[in-house]
Amino acid sequence: MTDAITQLIHHPYQPPAGFEAPQPGVFKASTVIFPNVAAMRARDWKHKSGYTYGLHGTPTTFMLEERIATLEGGLHCVLVPSGLAAIAHVALALLRTGDEVLIPDNAYGPNKALAEGELAAFGIAHQFYDPMDVADLAARIGPRTRLVWLEAAGSVTMEFPDLIAQVRACRARGVACVLDNTWGAGLAFNAFDLDGQGLGVDATAHALTKYPSGGGDVLMGSVVTRDEALHRRIKLTHMRLGLGVGANDAEAVLRALPSIGLRYRAQDQAGRALAHWCAAQPQIAQVLHPALPGAPGHAHWRQVCGAADDRGGGAAAGLFGVLVHERHAPAQVDAFCDALRLFRLGYSWGGPVSLAVPYDLAAMRAAWPAHLARGTLVRFSIGLEAPADLQADLAQALARALPV
Ligand SMILES: *Cc1c(COP(=O)(O)O)cnc(C)c1O
Repeated sequence: MTDAITQLIHHPYQPPAGFEAPQPGVFKASTVIFPNVAAMRARDWKHKSGYTYGLHGTPTTFMLEERIATLEGGLHCVLVPSGLAAIAHVALALLRTGDEVLIPDNAYGPNKALAEGELAAFGIAHQFYDPMDVADLAARIGPRTRLVWLEAAGSVTMEFPDLIAQVRACRARGVACVLDNTWGAGLAFNAFDLDGQGLGVDATAHALTKYPSGGGDVLMGSVVTRDEALHRRIKLTHMRLGLGVGANDAEAVLRALPSIGLRYRAQDQAGRALAHWCAAQPQIAQVLHPALPGAPGHAHWRQVCGAADDRGGGAAAGLFGVLVHERHAPAQVDAFCDALRLFRLGYSWGGPVSLAVPYDLAAMRAAWPAHLARGTLVRFSIGLEAPADLQADLAQALARALPV
């Protein structure tokens, strides 16, 4: 008789196969067990034909990869531990010493910081381009340019670029273009088919931390492609860097995905209503939301996001910024943020709690963009609270900290 503990570890009972429930099961593994040596040698970790090691995939991560690829209109996906890791992953997969990367000046800040830090130290050059001037982007594409980052809408200032023309400019020069698709989340527009004729980006990076997670409690990122050869490069780099995600985190995202459309639309509707209300307040010089007529890039937003809504209203993330009139000192704007009750102070977005962040725009951009009013910027992320309660919160904080 074998030792009881040995029996526990090697227990022969197998539950009946074929169990199905609304949500997939959670499989946790570093070690994957093979039936024999021949199977061990034959297994190819590069494909979803089997399992080799936890880092290379489990049923849980394969399932999430396939769903994220579908959400974004792609064919292949790799998962990484954060949205920023997805950005770094693309850079490390596609760039070598002597190459150059182009990044929009309104990109997610840490993308620019990566270029200025590690990439520069590796001998990889970078330029920041004007996201609202396609000619500026085209003029900067040179013989060493290997990667162009796109972002729509831009981080914090929310300009919507002419994505179709930007992709065409990259195609014309044979340079890979990769979109940070966190704002659109695969819901506002199809990054792999922007014009309805199949014109799209080569890959997307997505902070699943935001809308796919929806809870403010998971960090995860993805890189999605449609191209087999490009996916293979990304997958090889993924294996060599040893990036993996936890099964419980993958399960949390799988559980939140079915409601992503409802959440995105609800946060969009509330965000737009509050953005319109803010535009009418005397303390606010400008509202930054691509769906508002007159906003920077509004026509470009309408072109690629306008058709995403069957009522003709278009789709947008529940995110907007306000430029508080420059007659109010930055310290008064800080007091306004501190006076908010329902809006909490914190980074990120896409979760249930509405958030506010004051930004020092002058420190973030090469020059003050001509299309932006002078003032202090506050970025709001709209959660799932009742919009009327959020509006009342903004009203009381404005009245308290920024009297007219
Ligand atoms: C939040 C965010 C990221 C980074 O995601 P993390 O999971 O926080 O690393 C990247 N790009 C954009 C546009 C983001 O908003």
